[in-house]
Amino acid sequence: MLMFLVLLIFGQNGLISTVYTNYKEDLGNGFDLEHFQTFDKIVEELKELANENTTDNKVFEKSLISLGETFEGREIYAFKFIRKNDNENKRKTMVIECGAHAREWVSVSTCVYIITRIARSSNTANTVSKYDWVLIPVLNPDGYVYTWKNSTTRMWRKNRSFTEEQMKIYLEQKDDVCIGVDINRNFDSNWGGPGAPKTPCFTMYAGPKPFSENESKALVNFLTDNKDEVIAYISLHTFGQKWMTPFGHSKEKPTNLNEMERVALLSVEAIKKVSGLVYTVGSSHDIMYPNSGSSVDWASKTLSIPYTYLVEMVPKNATLEVGFMAEPELMMENCKTIWIGLQAMASHLKNDS
Ligand SMILES: [Zn+2]
Repeated sequence: MLMFLVLLIFGQNGLISTVYTNYKEDLGNGFDLEHFQTFDKIVEELKELANENTTDNKVFEKSLISLGETFEGREIYAFKFIRKNDNENKRKTMVIECGAHAREWVSVSTCVYIITRIARSSNTANTVSKYDWVLIPVLNPDGYVYTWKNSTTRMWRKNRSFTEEQMKIYLEQKDDVCIGVDINRNFDSNWGGPGAPKTPCFTMYAGPKPFSENESKALVNFLTDNKDEVIAYISLHTFGQKWMTPFGHSKEKPTNLNEMERVALLSVEAIKKVSGLVYTVGSSHDIMYPNSGSSVDWASKTLSIPYTYLVEMVPKNATLEVGFMAEPELMMENCKTIWIGLQAMASHLKNDS
């Protein structure tokens, strides 16, 4: 029987909020969702989830696929929930991507939580079963594994690839930051523009050319192959509590900005209602900082995916160390509230085709 636990949580702005959760009842199954996990453990759990017989089997067909291989030879996995008995022509997909930036562990945990939630919840809500869901839990496996190496690598952001030129600079300067590319600056949308340096020894290095990286290529190929079905693409990051629309490079806005904003406001309203957490809505250029070559800008501009969002999750304000090394309690609250926000989004999208 489903039991709901009621947790009282003191939100960051001092409000007392109530989060209803049943995750202890019907999720977990031996995998500790309440703590950060290594890449290997996550992959093991994803395989288990894809293969096990769960109550969602009536609604979805589950599969774990690889979108490509990284520089160091790891798989870039995507977990697919494809609705059974659906009209192929009307199929629409929500794509959620996590872990583009290695140190943002809360992002990875959030995707794993949502996958578990859809796979093992005993009653799949209508808003969830309206769409196919594809979640990419660790877009940057090499970087993520590197952040687990030791305390000096914990704040790594990029992937771990390098060109001959980069290796030469690295050997000259003996500086680790000269290795790797920022995956979320590597897309062909104002590539190398504001906030995306073209020289390697920066943590936001855009790469030697657009789509030079296996991770960005893998995502681009997947989104391009499925562009007519993808209704929304959401890139989850930490931190700052911002729910952002395109674009990052300038004040330019997508033609469907009003509709994207309408849905964003409903998503953040749902989060505030349940947790007291306040998210700001606006373009990443206007409310964060100028950035170029991001996946959501590219997906909006080049593929015309109707809804694309870059979400910076909890906490709202913190030093870099505190912000990227959120405590497990904050991580769990984030997982639950983001899932609520995404379900609110799913229930308010306009599905024209
Ligand atoms: Zn990020």
